[in-house]
Amino acid sequence: KLYNEVQDLKGNIRVYCRIRPFLSGQSGKQTTIQYIGENGELVVINPSKPGKDSHRLFKFNKVFGPAASQEEVFLDTQPLIRSVLDGYNVCIFAYGQTGSGKTYTMTGPNATSVVDWGVNYRALNDLFNISQTRRSSITYEICVQMVEIYNEQVRDLLRNDTFQKRLGIWNTSQPNGLAVPDASLHPVKSTTDVLELMNVGLMNRAVGATALNERSSRSHSILTVHVRGLDLETNAVLRGCLHLVDLAGSERIDRSEVTGDRLREAQHINKSLSALGDVIFSLAQKSAHVPYRNSKLTQVLQSSLGGQAKTLMFVQLNPDVESYSETVSTLKFAERVS
Ligand code: ADP
Ligand code: MG
Repeated sequence: KLYNEVQDLKGNIRVYCRIRPFLSGQSGKQTTIQYIGENGELVVINPSKPGKDSHRLFKFNKVFGPAASQEEVFLDTQPLIRSVLDGYNVCIFAYGQTGSGKTYTMTGPNATSVVDWGVNYRALNDLFNISQTRRSSITYEICVQMVEIYNEQVRDLLRNDTFQKRLGIWNTSQPNGLAVPDASLHPVKSTTDVLELMNVGLMNRAVGATALNERSSRSHSILTVHVRGLDLETNAVLRGCLHLVDLAGSERIDRSEVTGDRLREAQHINKSLSALGDVIFSLAQKSAHVPYRNSKLTQVLQSSLGGQAKTLMFVQLNPDVESYSETVSTLKFAERVS
């Protein structure tokens, strides 16, 4: 196995924490991040309530501070991504409240600026480079899918017709019995192809939403990369799958303040994020029963969670003191699964 350089950790789940910087116009704000250690330690503090008990220590596989670049973050993610070429299934997702940098980490703020690229563009770029240059006896084919899960419904973001049939979870009618999320599959040969497709996906995501940001914070978006390698010497076929997931905002919605659609959305998000937490928790515990069936999200990601699959969660934090209680609840979620 050439690319399986990643040391296997408990339950094959690793957790990276990333703290976004204060944005321009936020100077003078107090931070809740007191200390970032070299070995994944993080101390948060509530500066508005100083005192002995206001410190909390957390430990993860890695913590990226506000100055960490997109490239640095990617370099620590790359070995995991490359193992897809060995036939592993990999799932990478970003968890955190709205505004904490999930989309920044997964996609980046600006697709036209290569230094700003997030994990998904970099991952595909890397897979293309590696598969074309380093493994001469294996030819790879790469296909992508992009879906959104909103109110427990799966929507294909790469089909242009607005009125779609309701998608199921799996499409097993693919040639070779490949079970893939029930959405259109698009062969890609270069990063340019990917950029074009993702543009279509982002545009489709906006359809019907009053504001893109509003909607995107309330739905999960999943970019799935399927890799098929054919070894020309042995005729062996390798298959790997990579899910790159930008989760809905994890902020708790005050039930007394929302009704109707907002309440329904909040309930669906809550349900799916706790289902995800439960799945990862039971994998980390090595329990016999893993409750995949409790949400569409965990059903779609099932093949990349558990078993031989490798999972990475980015825990995103907003350092602002006003986010303190969300920060702590995000960290507790992460602590439970790591
Ligand atoms: P989310 O997807 O969690 O709602 P975003 O990724 O949209 O959050 O980030 C919120 C804002 O913070 C955006 O303006 C984004 O560009 C900025 N931001 C997030 N993370 C970083 C970072 N590491 N460096 C610079 N700006 C960031
Ligand atoms: Mg976002």
